[in-house]
Amino acid sequence: MKLIFEKGAPGQHLDMLPSCDVPEVSLSQERKAPLPLPQVSETELTRHYTALAKRVHGVNDGFYPLGSCTMKYNPKINEDMAALPGFTQIHPLQPESTVQGCLEVYATAEKLLSEITGMDAMTFQPAAGAHGEFTGLLLIKAYHHHRGDSTRTKIIVPDSAHGTNPASAVMAGYTVVNIPSAPDGCVDVEALRAAVGPDTAGLMLTNPNTVGIFDKNILEITKIVHDAGGLCYYDGANLNAVMGVVRPGDMGFDVIHLNLHKTFSTPHGGGGPGSGAVGCKALLKPFLPGPMVEKAEDGSYHFVTPEHSIGRVKDFYGNFTVVVKALTYVLTLGKAGIPEAAENAVLNANYMMKRLKEKYTMAYDVPCMHEFVMCLEDLLHETGVSAMDIAKGLLDNGIHPPTMYFPLIVHEALMIEPTETESKETLDEACDVFLKLWDLAHSDAQALHDAPLTTPIRRLDEVGAARNPVLRYTEE
Ligand SMILES: *Cc1c(COP(=O)(O)O)cnc(C)c1O
Repeated sequence: MKLIFEKGAPGQHLDMLPSCDVPEVSLSQERKAPLPLPQVSETELTRHYTALAKRVHGVNDGFYPLGSCTMKYNPKINEDMAALPGFTQIHPLQPESTVQGCLEVYATAEKLLSEITGMDAMTFQPAAGAHGEFTGLLLIKAYHHHRGDSTRTKIIVPDSAHGTNPASAVMAGYTVVNIPSAPDGCVDVEALRAAVGPDTAGLMLTNPNTVGIFDKNILEITKIVHDAGGLCYYDGANLNAVMGVVRPGDMGFDVIHLNLHKTFSTPHGGGGPGSGAVGCKALLKPFLPGPMVEKAEDGSYHFVTPEHSIGRVKDFYGNFTVVVKALTYVLTLGKAGIPEAAENAVLNANYMMKRLKEKYTMAYDVPCMHEFVMCLEDLLHETGVSAMDIAKGLLDNGIHPPTMYFPLIVHEALMIEPTETESKETLDEACDVFLKLWDLAHSDAQALHDAPLTTPIRRLDEVGAARNPVLRYTEE
């Protein structure tokens, strides 16, 4: 397939910009030659992107059980709301009095999502989950420093954590202390007890964790950290299993990020825009990035900057339309619908786990939350077919592969998250495919080594792609 730069011809173009209605200025550094932009007609442009769209697999194409990513169906009404002219035809520098509705969206989303998470305040500035982690850790840092305590330099992270957790901790200037998981997949409480001390700034945890297990010792875990003077950070990227059922705030967490682009229904996977909203308990509120939205006595909304704000973490106010979609989602589901969605996410995952257990080995053979992890080490030894081979075989059956080789503590891992938006029929069809591939591994392993056969590109040279990435188009 040709790149857009290789299509069209000089002179073909599409006038989309309105004529200039402001004075033209001459820039001090003008280009010597015009930019080599694609010159294509509207027809060609449309065909190009339609062809590209046909080559990818999205949630609107079929089952997409990518663990830890919550690739669920996003109701289209969210898009309609986010496209309303009152939300899109505005400028971030407009006076507050002219965008009261937008400020109300922020204030209402903050109130409802704080209620769902058990937090006291929330900022919508961070643009993604990892960005939210970084922001949350800066809050923890500001809190300790404000108390005059600069000896706390360590963040404790379990070995099952999402890779962004230790990365964010390092970016925030902390040293990461890794603690092992116990054989049941939960935090090793004794190892945690041994790891905390006067240098502990905090703990980063996700619960349910990345193997899909709800940590039964969660209250003890947060207490151990608090007793040592540290704070507890909840990675709430994936709230699908617990929203409306239990609250991280009640589990003892002081700060949390949410991926509005996972649980709260913004399409994702293509690189944005997202929102890593950060909620916190009252003790961290004075440090939140500014501006925040506050409601005055007379009912009007205003921007305010918290007293000891860590400053901005993004220009303006974050990805606003993602917040509109999250609010639409929460209001559409309502108080009864939110826990029902969570319960169905858990039910669907357990249903699939139960059916697949007939042949596949589970990493942790206990009821799961919103996702579960299979360990294909035995299959690899018996047949030579790896988790990667099964994943490629799924592609030929119209299913997006699960998350592979993560979490790192499970070998030959396939991590499956069906989400609540899939029907029993879809789950059954998917289970049939998984079980069929297990049989195929035993009868014709080569067929799986050769998969995929039906995709536009067959097996990729993954090592080559990682070692020698070609990220830039060079004009011939
Ligand atoms: C997706 C995810 C993140 C990171 O979110 P991004 O928006 O991709 O930065 C962090 N933690 C967990 C558990 C996740 O699933």
